[in-house]
Amino acid sequence: MIFFGDSQQSDVDLAVIGAGLAGTGFAASVRQRGFEGTILLFEAGRGPGGRVATRRRRDDLQWRLDHGAPCFSFSQAPQGPLADLWNPLLEQGIVQPDCGLVVGLNETGCLVDPPDHPLLQGPRFRGVPTMASVPEALLKLAGANTRGVFGERISSLRRENGWWCFSGHLRARSLVVTGNLLAHPRSLAMLGWHDVPLRSAVPLNLDLALDAALERIREMHASVRWNLMLDFPCFPEELPRQIWLTSNAQEKFGIERIVLHRQQGRRLGLVVHGLDDGSPITPASQPRLLLEQESRQRKALAELLLPWPELAQALPVARSLGVMRWGASQPLDAPLPPSLQWCQPSAVGFCGDWIAGPGFGMAEGALQSAVDLAAQWI
Ligand SMILES: Cc1cc2nc3c(=O)[nH]c(=O)nc-3n(C[C@H](O)[C@H](O)[C@H](O)COP(=O)(O)OP(=O)(O)OC[C@H]3O[C@@H](n4cnc5c(N)ncnc54)[C@H](O)[C@@H]3O)c2cc1C
Repeated sequence: MIFFGDSQQSDVDLAVIGAGLAGTGFAASVRQRGFEGTILLFEAGRGPGGRVATRRRRDDLQWRLDHGAPCFSFSQAPQGPLADLWNPLLEQGIVQPDCGLVVGLNETGCLVDPPDHPLLQGPRFRGVPTMASVPEALLKLAGANTRGVFGERISSLRRENGWWCFSGHLRARSLVVTGNLLAHPRSLAMLGWHDVPLRSAVPLNLDLALDAALERIREMHASVRWNLMLDFPCFPEELPRQIWLTSNAQEKFGIERIVLHRQQGRRLGLVVHGLDDGSPITPASQPRLLLEQESRQRKALAELLLPWPELAQALPVARSLGVMRWGASQPLDAPLPPSLQWCQPSAVGFCGDWIAGPGFGMAEGALQSAVDLAAQWI
């Protein structure tokens, strides 16, 4: 049972799985289009954000580290319904243009131009004060008739008599899935699940659009990132915001980029975006892989930070805040066509950065797919 105002309800109009940019953006966008019904968001994490994530510390309330996406990348200035969602955030100062310096680093450790990467081609923005402020603000925009259930990963789905059913007797008329965990076979090995929940909930041939969507999703691959977070006791002047390794350097060091985050009191948060080496990730292998990544990345940093001597010297005393594994950090191929975003017969929809269109694989794609689905769904 969930409280909406004074009334306790077990039936909602819309359930959204995932409170990242796509899930919160979708909820905000349907409200902008006049939807007044009840919305329930289920999120495995402790709060809204997903890959737009900010790490906080109990022992230092001022400490905030954007350890997932360090910025919102767009291929062009937001247009149409995407601008309707984005521009109010700009006007309220919740996002601002990201003017942080981006530099490149080659395999011999020399500073060069940053590589030609889609995440660096168009306008970039930052959340204020942190990246997670944006999904938090979108959730607020979704209004009073929206509730979030946090810290709960949905691992099974049932469809009965036209309702999507969840644990605790909760039911929803429509379901929107943002991450594709519930639809992709990778969860079988990674999470030890026995089935692909969406496939089991709607048997084959009952909804041909869903069958086609699940077939496409099965083909998708996504890259994994191992992000090491460090707390440095110094912040030299003139540091870039992002240090991108060239492709040769990425191959040599197994690192995509290093992101620097100024903290209060001349301290620095540093995030190494470590690339995956393809070792099989299972619940049993993960603890060992996390330790291996931390030691490998620290070694690489000793070489990569040489252009910033004060940082290189402070590395041995930089405190580790652990390694975060981003499961489906970047979708790589076979995006889902927008024509399969909404599957009417089973009342299930998809949005996220893995839908085809501008901004595929980045923040823009997550938000664009959310406003596109809202237009179809309403
Ligand atoms: C390390 C890193 C660096 C990045 N850098 C950039 C960048 O520089 N610029 C840029 O534009 N983009 C960048 N991105 C990509 C950007 O973060 C994503 O495109 C965007 O955040 C995707 O939003 P989303 O809502 O589609 O997915 P997500 O943020 O992944 O949200 C999906 C949410 O669904 C939840 N969820 C999934 N399954 C379940 C379930 N079964 N039950 C409950 N909850 C569930 C997950 O916990 C997650 O919170 C980066 C991403 C990473 C990881």
